[in-house]
Amino acid sequence: MTITYQDLYLKARNALSGAGIEGAQLEAREILCAAAGKSPEQLYRDLSLYTTEAIAEKTEALLARRLAGEPVAYIVGEWSFCGLPFYVSPAALIPRIDTEMLAQLVMNRLKEYEGHTRVLDLCAGSGCIGLTAAAYLKNTRAVLVDLSDGALDLCKRNIRRHKLTGRAVYLKGDALQAPSHALGQFDVLVSNPPYIPSGDFPSLDASVKDFEPLMALDGGEDGLDFYRAITKLWMPALKPGGHLLYEVGIGQAEKVAWLLVKAGYENIRITRDTGGIDRVVEGQRPKEWEAPDLLHTVPGEEPPAEETPEPQ
Ligand code: GLN
Repeated sequence: MTITYQDLYLKARNALSGAGIEGAQLEAREILCAAAGKSPEQLYRDLSLYTTEAIAEKTEALLARRLAGEPVAYIVGEWSFCGLPFYVSPAALIPRIDTEMLAQLVMNRLKEYEGHTRVLDLCAGSGCIGLTAAAYLKNTRAVLVDLSDGALDLCKRNIRRHKLTGRAVYLKGDALQAPSHALGQFDVLVSNPPYIPSGDFPSLDASVKDFEPLMALDGGEDGLDFYRAITKLWMPALKPGGHLLYEVGIGQAEKVAWLLVKAGYENIRITRDTGGIDRVVEGQRPKEWEAPDLLHTVPGEEPPAEETPEPQ
């Protein structure tokens, strides 16, 4: 049987749209490109050519995985973020379009400085945030930190892919522990940490719950474990005046902003994503850091404990 790339493409597209997949057209193209080892441009050029039995079989196999619910990004092994291609694997979250806002704000903050800048991407996953900054800003050096070996392997491959070996490094580290002094200090610390409250897992989308790594999603009981730890423990890794930027989940922005207030950060800002959701929380380490006055009391004469107001 002789079939063209066009036949294969239409078959894949129809199967995907028949299964209710929204981006059927785009996904059919991605799957066919991966099966044929072609770029989208090469595929469009070759649409009327005959394909091979091997490519047809490979397309079928990839399509079957997609129809079983696996995200297309894992099937094809890469995904685009801020206009750049990144390798992805089930060891890290697939870069989200919501996160592009965070990367953009990181670059805006880095551009406030003249000369060389350093950005630390904590819980880096594929490394897409820190590497986007390094790829677009030639004076920026990026350090990518993650606890997962699988994520660090992706970071390594993405550093090479974007020819950033001279300006980007990856390191194993735990965001819940204080950083080593050897890391030095940064102009910007950015993190898209795990932030889903543990109890919310059953309600997550199947494509997330069944395929993406739990370790990258689980933010503890209220989803805020990483924000609490990083805000407090990692401030010494910021230069005075340095910026801390977080991606947060729906309904978390004010609580996270409050953590920053309590830790002494200044110029706290919340920014919405394109979907109108409060998505990025940021603050600045004070330029001149003064230890707060300590209250000296005589035993037995402690003032009544102050209620710390919690945001609703
Ligand atoms: N935004 C992701 C989701 O909704 C979660 C990302 C995270 O926990 N950092 O699945």
